[in-house]
Amino acid sequence: MYKVVDTNELNIEEVFASNVFTLGTMHERLPQDVYDEIVRVMENGGELSKESANIIAKAMKDWAVSKGATHFTHWFQPLNGTTAEKHDAFVTHPDKEGKMLLEFSGKELIKGEPDASSFPSGGLRSTFEARGYTAWDITSPAFIKESGAGRTLCIPTAFCSYKGEALDKKTPLLRSMEAISTQGLRIVRLFGNDKATKVTPYVGAEQEYFLVERAKYLEREDLIFTGRTLFGAPAPKGQEMDDHYFGTIPESVGAFMNDLNLELWKMGVTAKTQHNEAAPAQHELAPIYETANIATDHNQLVMETMKKMGYYHGLACLLHEKPFAGVNGSGKHDNWSLCTDNGVNLFEPGDTPNENIQFLLVIACIMKAVDTHAALLRQSAADVGNDHRLGADEAPPAIISIFLGDQLFDVVSQLVETGEAATCMREKKFKTGVSTIPAFNTDVTDRNRTSPFAFTGNKFEFRSVGSSDSIGDPNTVLNTIVAEAFCEAADILEKADDFQLAAHDLIKEYMTKHYRILFNGDGYAREWEEEAARRGLPNIKSMVEAVDALVSDDSVKLFEKFGIFTRTELESRAEILYERYAKSINIEAVTMIDMANKLYMPAVMGYVGRLANDINNTKAAGLDTAVMQDYITKISGELRTAKAALDELTELTNKAKAMAPGKEQAFFYHDKVFPAMRELRTPIDKLETMVDKAVWPVPTYEELLFEI
Ligand code: ADP
Ligand code: MG
Repeated sequence: MYKVVDTNELNIEEVFASNVFTLGTMHERLPQDVYDEIVRVMENGGELSKESANIIAKAMKDWAVSKGATHFTHWFQPLNGTTAEKHDAFVTHPDKEGKMLLEFSGKELIKGEPDASSFPSGGLRSTFEARGYTAWDITSPAFIKESGAGRTLCIPTAFCSYKGEALDKKTPLLRSMEAISTQGLRIVRLFGNDKATKVTPYVGAEQEYFLVERAKYLEREDLIFTGRTLFGAPAPKGQEMDDHYFGTIPESVGAFMNDLNLELWKMGVTAKTQHNEAAPAQHELAPIYETANIATDHNQLVMETMKKMGYYHGLACLLHEKPFAGVNGSGKHDNWSLCTDNGVNLFEPGDTPNENIQFLLVIACIMKAVDTHAALLRQSAADVGNDHRLGADEAPPAIISIFLGDQLFDVVSQLVETGEAATCMREKKFKTGVSTIPAFNTDVTDRNRTSPFAFTGNKFEFRSVGSSDSIGDPNTVLNTIVAEAFCEAADILEKADDFQLAAHDLIKEYMTKHYRILFNGDGYAREWEEEAARRGLPNIKSMVEAVDALVSDDSVKLFEKFGIFTRTELESRAEILYERYAKSINIEAVTMIDMANKLYMPAVMGYVGRLANDINNTKAAGLDTAVMQDYITKISGELRTAKAALDELTELTNKAKAMAPGKEQAFFYHDKVFPAMRELRTPIDKLETMVDKAVWPVPTYEELLFEI
């Protein structure tokens, strides 16, 4: 059991980033000229000299070894959505006298060549030319990870094929960050900012998760293999009392959070906010925002460390988007903003946004980008587990729309209706009626929790992302679609004779044309679905239906224009997505079949047999058996339904398995196998509520969600 660390005995300022090879550490350990060189490359790109790379590698190794590291790894993010690492010890061949010197060269730091033929590549690499390269991402700091395997120096890397095609989530994200920087600079230049040298997307990813007891988790095949419960009748209580959200954190969970924070702080992850979420056993962690690249790396570390910490606390952390039916699922709010390196947040409205032309142009471009590429943005958040949220009965809806808040919506509406925005709503005084409670101004950018893409003060919050997914893809798409809108606006405005007039006209034109993407109402309401259809907004209900948006002509043109993806890279990704869907649903279906055959059916049949004996005995004793007869009849009825559904699911799954991998197979799993799974779940869940609790073969919802 992990010792719960008493933070009273620690100096948190010293603990923070103690396992990170920070700029400060580099400054201490590198010669000044090498330090200057690495800072230059970090900020402006370019290549390090071979000599410098060697010096940095040695300093990094010495530092890591002084912290107890024995191994190093190129840490990368392949297309299966997780992270990958292959550890190599610093050991080298011993000399004649048997003495060994630890070594780590510049070459090993910069480039790796893992035999990575088993990662999904969507046909970009065949096994006989399996070479994939990992390349050091100098913009994300190296760090030491402590684990059961000891201490390992992790070097964040991009992962590409021999020909330079991206095989990971990091490479396109870095490409998109360059695109948005170039195009964002053109916009701020138009408004006279000639100090800025780049525009950087910043991201804060709020991470939701569930915790259950590890011992119970290990009793459920479905949790082990699929991350969610495939069966389970609801507990008598769910989340209807709203007593979990922001409630007192249970002791077992608090101890977990304490150790989790410390572990993350050591690796430089700014774990900041923690609270109970809406569903029982559900919680959230939010870090402070960082550059999109580092935020993406750190979110992977957050997920990984949550899983690890669960182990030490006798808990299992569930990151699946919908681990339990009937209570809220988990998402990841991707808070996103754009800032220049001279401190201007492009989404900062100021006191009078109606007079802030740069801000209005930026908002107009966001409206244009999101409306034009709504399907692509939806796709970027699509994942197998996320189908249970987006487009199912859960937040946020699958229809992409933008919520701007009352103040901004009013400004945009005025502009669209009259061509001018003469006024803007002001903050109101917050009054409680208690004289000792100080009055303050309320926010004008109020919240709408149902919106998938909401403006929240000085950032946008993309709420569709799934809890287990990498935030790499959504941020790549956000950066790229907005880069395109910035580029098109700059193309026009840079040529304008009268800039003020041209900017005004362009803002009005974009806002008018893309006004339909704005929605301030309840995103869960049925009426919104109808209204959105009238407006012509896409409503893509599932991951498999979303894939098309990735390879549409518009998307290919967009990504190729900014050098983010080639058509080949996009097509390979589409192929991977279809396969990922088919394989995931297949695992779910097979797990269900297995659990039904080996656990549920025998348990219920055994119970029916026992009840039949009891009925005979009761009858022999001359007693009334009507109630027992009633139970046994109903149970046998459900058992029959379950058996028929089990046979049907088995047949469909076998059929699906025999199909060639690809779009058709993925759709078969979606259209046929998935509904058949629901048909099997229904009678089994009913049976759970009818038979003796003692015969039920797995921990119930009640035990999983409330006994922690
Ligand atoms: P809430 O749950 O009310 O949305 P949280 O505090 O849980 O708020 O999370 C907000 C997230 O947004 C945090 O990760 C925070 O660092 C991040 N954030 C705040 N300002 C910005 C910004 N300008 N750009 C990007 N992310 C931001
Ligand atoms: Mg939050």
